[in-house]
Amino acid sequence: MWRIRMHGRGGQGIKTASQMLGSAGFYSGFQAQDFPLYGAERRGAPVIAFTRISKDAILERGPISSPDIILIGDETLLNDPQSAPLCGADPSTVIFVNSDRMPESLASNFSVTAVNLTDLCLQHLDNRMVYSSALSAAGARLLGIIELPDLLQAVEDELTGVSSQVLRGNLNLAREIFEIIQPAVISEKANSPLIAKSLVFPQHLPVVDGAPIILDPGNMALRKTGNWRVERPKIDYEQCNNCMICYARCPDGVIRTAPDGRPEIDYDHCKGCLICAQECPGHFINTVRETGMFP
Ligand code: SF4
Ligand code: SF4
Repeated sequence: MWRIRMHGRGGQGIKTASQMLGSAGFYSGFQAQDFPLYGAERRGAPVIAFTRISKDAILERGPISSPDIILIGDETLLNDPQSAPLCGADPSTVIFVNSDRMPESLASNFSVTAVNLTDLCLQHLDNRMVYSSALSAAGARLLGIIELPDLLQAVEDELTGVSSQVLRGNLNLAREIFEIIQPAVISEKANSPLIAKSLVFPQHLPVVDGAPIILDPGNMALRKTGNWRVERPKIDYEQCNNCMICYARCPDGVIRTAPDGRPEIDYDHCKGCLICAQECPGHFINTVRETGMFP
């Protein structure tokens, strides 16, 4: 059995990528299973999806803790302790990251393949935020057991209802990624049965400790939703005329007035919805891709 785990953010098509990969595996003659695991269902919040592909019936259930392949759609998750995309990896795990950085710089102690999916998505789809076809193509190729026509069939099936132009773009994107990546060497553990962990018996805590009750008042500021951001709004202060429309329109109230009267974005809590950039009358708010770890 091959166990694949995908990491990305809400809105990037991670769940669809796992479905495409499972379908492609099925069309290539294997058994398949795929499912997502959401946290907060918000655009930008970390999302995980799992795919199992096997020659035999898949009796295993639940999240994949020791994957053979980890596909990371957003490199900013690499150092995020809440997402921990490398959790459960060992030196034999095949790791793929959507990045234009050198693979060695992304995760020490691991062998990493890196391809800039964002630019390829922009090129084929005119959209740099939707990685479903791209990530499934990367997974299918790394696995080395899926044929290109089966992948393309899976992409087409999962994208039922999109325009012919969008479908064509996704097929071309999947084909290009399949052709530029080489199959990986998957370790023997791919064929080994899952070793069951011993049962964990939860302690009976006092209800105040054991239930999700927030006792600390006014603690929202501690949750840094800036960590969800995949694109950063950047005010062009050379052009900005301090009309403060962005301040009024930000749904999270994270644009404040600086002492000199200029609008100032609180990047700890700006989640990158980019509504401010759309609303600025002069289009003086630019967007740049987030590529680093959130402080
Ligand atoms: S992108 Fe703009 S509108 Fe959205 S949360 Fe950040 S500052 Fe507010
Ligand atoms: S909406 Fe645009 S011009 Fe107005 S304050 Fe914001 S950035 Fe400046």
